[in-house]
Amino acid sequence: MKLIDGKQIAEVIKEEIKAEVAKYIDDYDVAPHLAAILVGDDAASDTYVSHKEKDCKSVGITSSIYRFSNDISEEELLRTIDFINDDEEVHGLIVQLPLPKHINVDRVISHIDPKKDVDGFHPLNIGKMMLGHPAFLPATPAGIIELLKRYNIETSGKHCVILGRSNIVGTPLSVMLSRKSKHANATVTLCHSKTTDIKEITLQADILIAAIGMPEFVTAEMVKPDAVVIDVGIHRIPAPNLLSGFRLIGDVNFDEVSEIASYITPVPGGVGPMTRVALLQNTLTAFKQMVRPS
Ligand code: NAP
Repeated sequence: MKLIDGKQIAEVIKEEIKAEVAKYIDDYDVAPHLAAILVGDDAASDTYVSHKEKDCKSVGITSSIYRFSNDISEEELLRTIDFINDDEEVHGLIVQLPLPKHINVDRVISHIDPKKDVDGFHPLNIGKMMLGHPAFLPATPAGIIELLKRYNIETSGKHCVILGRSNIVGTPLSVMLSRKSKHANATVTLCHSKTTDIKEITLQADILIAAIGMPEFVTAEMVKPDAVVIDVGIHRIPAPNLLSGFRLIGDVNFDEVSEIASYITPVPGGVGPMTRVALLQNTLTAFKQMVRPS
């Protein structure tokens, strides 16, 4: 079994981004700028946004966080998005989800300028992705494809089984892997909560990707020997003997499955760091598309 070290690959990519950003700063005195909107006091959202801020800083990308209380009106949020859309010094804009229930998420996401939509959630970017046109790709699927690419894992002609059809992971990944292009060309089966005989399907997978949000759902008996296993899930479970009081596990039973897989991603240190770095890549791309030094 070979461990797919997402943390190490993400560090390599961060160095590549850092070098490119430094060159823009040296040559043109301009750096990419990511703005993030954070609504409410959800601890997980707060942590995610702090990570994004830290990641930006580590590669020289400027970041700004617009914080609002839970009772912000939808109109005020849309006005803030208008303001950031119009700000020529900001190249990427993300709205941290989830939003409070009184706010229409689809309306908010659709309000982001597609050229700044570095999360790749705007309908225009999703449509472009479906057609295989250049677009901002959602971070987690983009990070998974990058991992497969960097580990030279062949996808062409392979049977990829994806567990979970969320709009941010499973569904876009199924489109991206089945596209007629390099690092794709796979035959994809997308499973969800209404799929019957899931084990029969997972046993056929050359590449098995678990993104269902159920701790250690995938066990050894569900995996074909020598399959590649990508674990997207992240769950905190109590670990009283650790200083933090918790540890992270995925949707895959790592101890069992690592015995039979050819490659496997760990949790933490697999898909998570790749998701984080994909946002930086998209921000750099948005910047380059907007700032064309003459
Ligand atoms: P989600 O929105 O929670 O959706 C879960 C999907 O799994 C749904 O499509 C659901 O089916 C399906 N599902 C649930 N139970 C199932 C079962 N017993 N059998 C088959 N399918 C089942 O998913 P998500 O947002 O993609 O997140 C999935 C996991 O990945 C979570 O643990 C999340 O924390 C993690 N995550 C990690 C990263 C990262 O960077 N590592 C990024 C995003 C998410 P239905 O559609 O029928 O309901």
